[in-house]
Order: sequence, then structure tokens, then C-alpha cells
Amino acid sequence: MPCLMGILLRSTTCFPVKNNRSISHTLNHSIFIRFPLSGTIQALATRRRPLQISMFTLQHRHKELPARTGNLLTVHGSVSTPAFVVVATRATVKAVEPQALVDIGVQIVISNSYHLHLRPGEETVASLGGLHGFSGWRGPTMTDSGGFQVFSLGAGKEHGVGKVASIFPDEDPQPRANHYRQGKSLVKLTEEGASFKSIIDGSKHFFSPENVIELERKLGADIILVLDECTSPLHDYAYTKAAMERTHRWAQRALHAFEKTADDHSYPNTEQILYGIVQGGAYEDLRKESARVIGGMLFGGFAIGGSLGKSKEEMHHVLDWTIPLLPDDKARHLLGIGEIEDIFAGVRRGVDTFDCAAATRIARNGTVFLKSEPRHRINLRNTRFRDDPRPIDETCDCFTCRQHSRAYLSHLCRSGEFSFYRLATIHNLRFLVRLMERIREAIESDELDELEAEWRTPA
Ligand SMILES: [Zn+2]
Repeated sequence: MPCLMGILLRSTTCFPVKNNRSISHTLNHSIFIRFPLSGTIQALATRRRPLQISMFTLQHRHKELPARTGNLLTVHGSVSTPAFVVVATRATVKAVEPQALVDIGVQIVISNSYHLHLRPGEETVASLGGLHGFSGWRGPTMTDSGGFQVFSLGAGKEHGVGKVASIFPDEDPQPRANHYRQGKSLVKLTEEGASFKSIIDGSKHFFSPENVIELERKLGADIILVLDECTSPLHDYAYTKAAMERTHRWAQRALHAFEKTADDHSYPNTEQILYGIVQGGAYEDLRKESARVIGGMLFGGFAIGGSLGKSKEEMHHVLDWTIPLLPDDKARHLLGIGEIEDIFAGVRRGVDTFDCAAATRIARNGTVFLKSEPRHRINLRNTRFRDDPRPIDETCDCFTCRQHSRAYLSHLCRSGEFSFYRLATIHNLRFLVRLMERIREAIESDELDELEAEWRTPA
């Protein structure tokens, strides 16, 4: 599609976007969106350098809360926020193919650079057109940097804790015991980066802020994250502070590496957006310092990572300290958190996107979402569903609920049939997609409190 140029524009490259739109990307760093019928409109603020690009546009701010709706624009389509980012660790959402994700209404997925580096390797992914060409998912994509793996194979392993397990022990008594068995750290951290051994074959690898940018350039996701050091909830103040300061230095190095490769068209996606990550554990002064330092760097968006405290209340404090100090005109992503009550807690404080593997992981264990049940979930292994002719959720419009009874699904689950993984995952993802739609509507009509009250159930 040809682009209509304004007189200010000196040079332009066009990128196809969903909905028959194109983005005109210009040398004077203005971004224009062209709609075929309405002409060219300036959609995003003029920027001085490519790195200052904000692909986020705020649409509505809730009257009484920091909650907001917005639009996150990428060259592979736009994302209405608040949004749930579906976890596709190894370039696939477990048990569900890309076309099903489109049918479910999934807007964006997040893959993991660490896992894809180990297998199949970023060179393979790049040679097949990056993550979009490789996986067949054509929509917006994020990649995490591997910082969490640095944590979980390092201090997380030494401390015998996971990011969430030790944070909310009363609420999830045996969540990741097998994943975070205590043992010797597999990671050696230095100022230069992190050395670690592959969990697949024991081979040695090294991640630095610079080579992780190169890795993520080759993977070609639309939104990429810097390498950070994710501390354990058991780390003391002094260690958390030192790790945070190192994360800040790494962020600057990553930004520099990103800037240097911004015009290198040998990578599959040269229109990537780089997010910085705020650290600082559950310490108020550190979180505020990190939000100020990272928020002051020229990132395209911001993620909130690391230990979020020892209780849900502490996590809420961390968000309250952090979010007001981040630039208002850029997106904020909450890393690794996505239980329903956490989504409400984050959204009301101004979080725009979430990712969490729980929705798909619990589906494979037989647990499916159902509003108004304790914790909004039931387990289809339960004998009470053996003869139940109803769908999982009579109000759900997903493929699984339209086609199958709880009795049949319960049978598939107890028999260990592969089809169960797919059917249960489809329902759980559709449930979250619809919830996020309701949340966006509630923000638009300034009724988020009412919606949250409607979803509050006994634990
Ligand atoms: Zn359903």
C-alpha cells in the first residue's frame, strides 16, 4: 500500500499492520498511521530519537483511579489495554496452535529468550523470519530477556524459592516445589553478565546486556525486555540494592546496544520496542529509586519485575510506589503476575499488561475458570463432574463450551487424553480474554470498582 506523505516527511518506510493500516516511519521520527478512508493522521508524538518512541496511546483515564485504557501499537498489530499477554515460552502456547489463539481473541504472546537460545537457537529462528515467521503467530509478540532464569537458576535455587511461591505461601502451598528445589546455584553473576549452564545439556552460556539485545534482535519480537537481575524475596536490603544498581547499569548498556542496532535491517524486525525493568524488591526507597532511574531512561515502555514482597498487600505497595513514578505516556507491564485478583489489583493501579503461565498450566492439570466459584475455578477431575451434561461455563462462547460437556471433558482429563490439554486451555484463555474486555469497558465507564466487587469471591 502506498503511503501518503505529509510535507514534513523526508523519508518513509511502510509496514503492513492489521486492519488494513500501515505505519509510516520517518527520518524525523514522527510516526503517522494511514487509514485508507480517512487519510493520514499523526498518531504518536514526535520523537527526537528512535529510542524515545512510545507506541502507547492513552485512551481513557478512570475518573477516580489510576486505571486506564490504551492502545499499544506494533508493526504486527495493535493491542487494546489493559491486556493479558499469553505465555508462549518456547514460541508456542502449550497445546494450542496459533490459529486457535486468533479465534480465541488473544492479542499478544510472550516468549522466552533464554529457552529459545538453548533450543532451537536464535540463528534458526532468525533464518525463518523471526518468531512471527517461525511460529506462524502473526500478531504482536514480546520476549522476556532471561533475567528471570538468571534468578531462578541462581539465587532462587540457592534459596529454594520461586518468584511467587515464597511470596504468597499461604495462598499457594505447593506451587512450584519441584521447579525450585534448593541446590547449588547454576549461575555466576559478574558486572559483565551472567554465566550459566544449560538445563538441557549442561553446555556453558553467557548472557550480557549487549548479547541479550542481539539475541532478541534475532528473535524479532515486537516488544523486547532488557536483561535484569531478579532478586529473591529472601535477599536482604544490601544485596537487593546492589543488584538493583547493577540492573540499572545493565539497562543503560542494553539501551546503548539497542540504539546501535536500530538501523540494522539484517534482523527480522527492525521496529522493535525496548522495555526497561524496574527492580528493588519490596523496599520502598529502592523501588522508588529504580522507578525514577529506569523511568528516566529512553525506553519504549516499562516492566515491573523481581520480588514483589511476601504478601499480596506488599505487592500492592510495590505497585503503589512504582507506577506513579513511571512516565504516564508509556506502557507498564507487570511481569509474571496474572491471577484474576492480581489483574484487578494491577489494573486499578495503572498496569497496562500482564503475563502469567498459570492460566494455561492449571488447565493442563484439569483446572478451568468459572466465575463465582472459589478462586473462580473448578477441577474437572472431581467426581461430581462425571455425569454433568453442562458445558464448563454456560455463559462462555469458546469452542470447548460450545461443543463439549463437563462429563466428556472430565473423562478426557482423567484418561490423560492430549485433546483435554487443548480444550481446557482454549476455555481458560477465552475466559481471560473476555475478562479483560469487561475490564476495559468498566474503565471506560468509570465503573471498575463495581466490576471488581462483582468478581470478589471467598478464597
Ligand atoms: Zn469456555
